[in-house]
Amino acid sequence: MSAPRTLFEKVWARHEILKGPDGDSLLFVDRHYAHEGSFHAFNALRKAGLKVRRPDLTTGIYDHYVPTDAARTPASAEIGDMITLFGRNVAEQGIRAYAPGDPHQGIVHVVGPELGETLPGFLIVCGDSHTATHGAFGALAFGIGASEVAHVLATQTIWQVRPRLLRISVEGRLGAGVTAKDVILAVIARFGANVGLGHAIEFAGSAIRGLTMEGRMTVCNMAIEAGSRTGQIAPDDTTFAWLAGREKAPKGALWDKAVAHWRSLPTDEGARFDRDLSLDASALAPMVTWGTSPEEALPITDRVPDPAAAPDAARKAAWAKSLDYMGLKPGMALDGIAVDRVFIGSCTNARIEDLRAAAAVVKGRKAVVPAWVSSGSTAVKLQAEAEGLDRIFTAAGFEWRESGCSMCVGINGDLLKPGERSASTTNRNFVGRQGPGARTHLVSPAMAAAAAVTGRLTDVRKLAAN
Ligand code: SF4
Repeated sequence: MSAPRTLFEKVWARHEILKGPDGDSLLFVDRHYAHEGSFHAFNALRKAGLKVRRPDLTTGIYDHYVPTDAARTPASAEIGDMITLFGRNVAEQGIRAYAPGDPHQGIVHVVGPELGETLPGFLIVCGDSHTATHGAFGALAFGIGASEVAHVLATQTIWQVRPRLLRISVEGRLGAGVTAKDVILAVIARFGANVGLGHAIEFAGSAIRGLTMEGRMTVCNMAIEAGSRTGQIAPDDTTFAWLAGREKAPKGALWDKAVAHWRSLPTDEGARFDRDLSLDASALAPMVTWGTSPEEALPITDRVPDPAAAPDAARKAAWAKSLDYMGLKPGMALDGIAVDRVFIGSCTNARIEDLRAAAAVVKGRKAVVPAWVSSGSTAVKLQAEAEGLDRIFTAAGFEWRESGCSMCVGINGDLLKPGERSASTTNRNFVGRQGPGARTHLVSPAMAAAAAVTGRLTDVRKLAAN
């Protein structure tokens, strides 16, 4: 009998073509997602006189630069040029791309799964660090740099050093108002933003198994914020039910064959991880970040920490710097901090389930600060409209925007003003992430909705009780 293997080891072994002299491996790539930011790689290809090796395994998605206003007006000529350039690149190379106007336009990490192009056991790459999202299906998915994108375009392969293995088990039942976003923020707060450095993470445990696919994608999306390039969750019946019938998923006898293979992927009993960590899900509360790293997060019931109480000198300095940037004082209650804007969007939390959760809080209430909803994809937007969610948001005074990365990073010009404070469903609260001087508090969609209708960071459980 062969030795027990982890999910990661099984997927890696199936894709390893050869081992290099320096200990790295050449891996076959099943799916490559390209977006407007891939222009350096297309330029490099053109310069070398090469064509894309497998345009059929490459998918083009317009997300980072696309405007999200109704008229899709680029914020500047340069932004418009980037969108045009991407269109030229994909057309020249015969790559199928999803542009504004297409029902599948949207954020790469939302569109790939919803098309059924992301499948269990696949090796998936994209020139974007949140590619880990696709690991929610039991794929091995990671972000790559511009020169690696060029290599993949030219060869459909990539050289990688095999990471060590870390399992994070989250066990128990989540309480009311506690979501996948709170789980991953709590994991990062507890174990630190560097816990996954040099490791591939497998998220396991009953709380993870109990999540929907949308929730699992939220968790894997933020593996990179825990320091790892990849996060995975074992595929199971929840995964297969979500994928069944999707446009690009296998059909008929091929589907049955695929599911039989996918059932062999979960980590075997007794397989070894280099590190094992666990967290009690039942003890979690809705989370909010107070600083400028996703690890600087606490339950909404807590208070802004005092740098004087930091566990070491490095964190004492980091916390003081974060508080200075965020304009907060030690000891302030997190519940009640006034916000200027609310953003519900991004590849972390703009899927249909996220919009439903936010709409449930908003229904019958009014936003008291400017608030945006930008769906993760046009398909999600259309589904939300069919369910009447758009009317709940617009009746409450929210702006119902088109799909794209939008205010997650603001490359398209959707930015906060300097000094503005947001409650945001995105994944990064770094200095300047939503614009120079902007202050970001990461929260779940329900918590963002609660902040919109109160104008403050608010424990959403209090609204649910009303
Ligand atoms: S939504 Fe944000 S994190 Fe996700 S791909 Fe776009 S810019 Fe990156």
